[in-house]
Amino acid sequence: MTSVPYLIIGQGLAGTLLAFELHFRKLDFRIIASAGKSSASTVAAGLFNPLVFKRLTKSWLIDDLLPVMDEVYPELENVLDRKFYFKKDILKPLSVQELEEWKKKRESGVDYILKIQELPPVGGIADAAGYGQVTGSGYLDLNLFLENARNFFIEKGLFINSIVDYPDFEIRGGQLHYRRIDAEKIVFCEGAHVVKNPFFPFLKMRPAKGELLLVDAPGLPDDFILIDDLFILTVGNHLFKIGSTYDWDDLSELPTEKGRQSVTGRFEKLVSVEYTVKDHWAGIRPTVSDRRPVLGFHPEYTNAAVFNGLGTKGVMLAPYFAREMVRLLTGEQLHVNREVRMERFLK
Ligand SMILES: Cc1cc2nc3c(=O)[nH]c(=O)nc-3n(C[C@H](O)[C@H](O)[C@H](O)COP(=O)(O)OP(=O)(O)OC[C@H]3O[C@@H](n4cnc5c(N)ncnc54)[C@H](O)[C@@H]3O)c2cc1C
Repeated sequence: MTSVPYLIIGQGLAGTLLAFELHFRKLDFRIIASAGKSSASTVAAGLFNPLVFKRLTKSWLIDDLLPVMDEVYPELENVLDRKFYFKKDILKPLSVQELEEWKKKRESGVDYILKIQELPPVGGIADAAGYGQVTGSGYLDLNLFLENARNFFIEKGLFINSIVDYPDFEIRGGQLHYRRIDAEKIVFCEGAHVVKNPFFPFLKMRPAKGELLLVDAPGLPDDFILIDDLFILTVGNHLFKIGSTYDWDDLSELPTEKGRQSVTGRFEKLVSVEYTVKDHWAGIRPTVSDRRPVLGFHPEYTNAAVFNGLGTKGVMLAPYFAREMVRLLTGEQLHVNREVRMERFLK
């Protein structure tokens, strides 16, 4: 039987970035995942936005997250010899009230608002009182990144394509053992599937289904990522990802007519262009009740850990917290950031 220091379960953003952090530190691991289990990461638009538009404040921890993203993703582009990390400004149409708030915030020095103007810088967008331009934003082409990462791990003999069944674990000496691979430490990175994991029933997950569409819209400008009450993200060749929806009740993973109509309805309000729908996806976000990631070791099975809860912001959170997770796994750091500790659910 293979024997490794680290076994990672799941190859979404969490598992993949954790695996690369171990790889960069020359620590041996195996990563198990299966296309038979859905992944939010393969559905996600991959957007990152340093501002929270609802309150017009900076996104949580953004000044720490962005520098790590700017280090890790380009490094991975080098290793994988592919371009998948793109910086692009966001354009947000503003109501009269929002325009005033944005001007005030800009005057008080909130970073990341590049400028505010009264006319739309590009055509086809619905009239608004003003338009705010946000910088420090962009997107990660997640499918391209994860596919190339998987091929990289396969070539190095580090990837196992398999579904992990929980009865394949046994508890011996206060530790969790996977019957097929002998691992010193096991990290569960199963995204929303963790709700079925019998070893972590205490995590307060609140998964949220999301749907998005791929549309062909030749008349739509691609100079900016447009965000109002939906996002319009250019992916080249007149194609745009548009979305998304939030549903906490229907967690079926299948795209729905209701979801499609919700997205196209908002799209047609924001832009006036001809378009055809090319694709429609649904996925389940691994969201936590307090909207913070979850990192930590199991309270009883001392070699089992969890790295999850990337929620709606995996692209921004994963690089920074994958580093924290490795420091925790190696014992370099005894505790992670208070807000993300798994122990918060054990009180
Ligand atoms: C519609 C939608 C739009 C989104 N848009 C954005 C966005 O624009 N920007 C952003 O930052 N985030 C976005 N997200 C959120 C983002 O997808 C998540 O934060 C992130 O991808 C979660 O990554 P993860 O690795 O934790 O989970 P996942 O991507 O779900 O990965 C879980 C992995 O575990 C594997 N797995 C699970 N159980 C098993 C098992 N028993 N055996 C084997 N393998 C298993 C799966 O196959 C998969 O590889 C969006 C999500 C959705 C659904």
